[in-house]
This record gives sequence, C-alpha cells and structure tokens, in this order.
Amino acid sequence: MQLKEYYKQLISDKTAVIAANVYNYETLRGIISAAEQTQSKVILQLSKSSLEYLGINTAVGMCSSALKESGVEGWIHLDHGDSIELVQSCLDAGFNSVMIDGSELEFQENVRLTKKAKEIATKYNVPVEAELGFVAKLGQSISNNQSGFTKPEEAKLFVELTNVDSLAVSIGSAHGFYKEKPNLDFVRLAEIRAILPNTPLVLHGSSGIEHSDLKKAISNGINKINVATEFKNIFMNTIRIEVSKNDEIDLRKIFPPAIKAVKELAITKFELTKKAE
Ligand SMILES: [Zn+2]
Repeated sequence: MQLKEYYKQLISDKTAVIAANVYNYETLRGIISAAEQTQSKVILQLSKSSLEYLGINTAVGMCSSALKESGVEGWIHLDHGDSIELVQSCLDAGFNSVMIDGSELEFQENVRLTKKAKEIATKYNVPVEAELGFVAKLGQSISNNQSGFTKPEEAKLFVELTNVDSLAVSIGSAHGFYKEKPNLDFVRLAEIRAILPNTPLVLHGSSGIEHSDLKKAISNGINKINVATEFKNIFMNTIRIEVSKNDEIDLRKIFPPAIKAVKELAITKFELTKKAE
C-alpha cells in the first residue's frame, strides 16, 4: 500500500501509525520484531545524522530487507530533512516518504522550501511531511509560552499553498526527554484537525509523553506518532548494564538483550494505535 493511501485510512479510522527512528541494525531489529508481533504497519525513520552514520544506501537496503524478510508492511522516511539536496538524495536512494523541515524559517520561506520539496518528490510519487510551528529540537530551550505553537488558520493556509501530504504540528511537545510534564494543547489540535480534515497530522517529540496523553492526541487528530529518544535511551541503558556484567567480547551476546528492550518498548507504542478509546 502507498503511504498516502494508508494515511487516508488512518484519518477515517481516527488512528495513528508509529514512526520509529532507527539507528543501526539492532534498533531496526527491535522495531521490526515489535511490529511483527503486534501485526502493525510501521514507518522507519532516519535522520540526517543516522544516514551519515550508516550510509544512505546501506540504510535503505537494511530497512527494506528487514521489512521484506519479516513480512511487516512499512515505509522508509527521512526525518527532519534540512535541505533539498538531502531530500533529493533520499528520493534517489528509494525512500518512500520525506520530511522537509522549514519550521525555523519565516512562514513564506517555509512555504517556499516545502513547495520545492513537494515539486521534486511528486516526480517520485513520494509524500512530503512539513512542519509548521516550532517543536524544540534537542538542546534547544523549551518555551512555555504558546507563540511557537501551530495556529490553525496558518496551518490551513500552509497546506493550501504547499499541497503538502502531512503536517507536523506544534502543540506543546519537544524533542528529547522532558524535565517537566508537557501540557499538550488538545483544544488547538482539535481545531487544526477540524480546519484540515484531510491532512494527516504528525506529533514529533513523543518520547516521555504519557501514554494516556498520546491516546488523547490520537483521538484528537494525530495520525503519526514519532518516537526516537526513548528507543535510543533504552538501547544504550541496556547495553551499559550488559557490558558491566562481564567481559564478554561476543557482541552477538551483548546486543540481543538491548534489541529485546527496544522491542518491548516498541510493543507498548504500537498498542497505543490499536483502536484507542
Ligand atoms: Zn522530530
């Protein structure tokens, strides 16, 4: 199924797909096993730094082989593409979906960049995700005021101008872990959903948001839940414990408990998308 088709289904079913960032073979393995066990579809996301780490073709080859071998239906997505060049490279490498992130630009500049990405991706029949409003990135301070939150009217205008396929919104989430409990603006989310009834909405920075809030976000219009930090964190914490236990040098014995930890965490995320409420 094309991702665009699946998005339509998610909107009509009022549910979401889990978009998990993968960093290496082991995190990929954990995510795929969880999708397999819960019979879920999945978006496998790669950021620019993960692509630099893995190599773009290795990344695509690894993800597509894992999907094929497991029988899990999924899509390979560029997370936070920061340039047209990167988008182009991902399209050439066989990505099924790309994000162009102009969220830190002025509205018109974001429109211009997103339109350009959309123009190129259309040639590959690949959907484009954009971001409007500001979701703090790792290391950026989280503002408590709502000035960076997505404004429903602007969101409508943005989608009309860019014809973008899905939209990441800012409603109070942030990348990385939270120091304080985030307060998601569900009223705003519902307004965006109402004004954009056919646009899949994306929640970035879902790590550390309580599952009850993620469910509420889904029922108020979110169709794609991005999870990255939590997977990285549980993977590394498990590795640390395993390494400290003994002098084992066989990495094939050290990694499996970390893969299992990622898998178990991922299962809890996939379960959120199974007909909430
Ligand atoms: Zn993000």
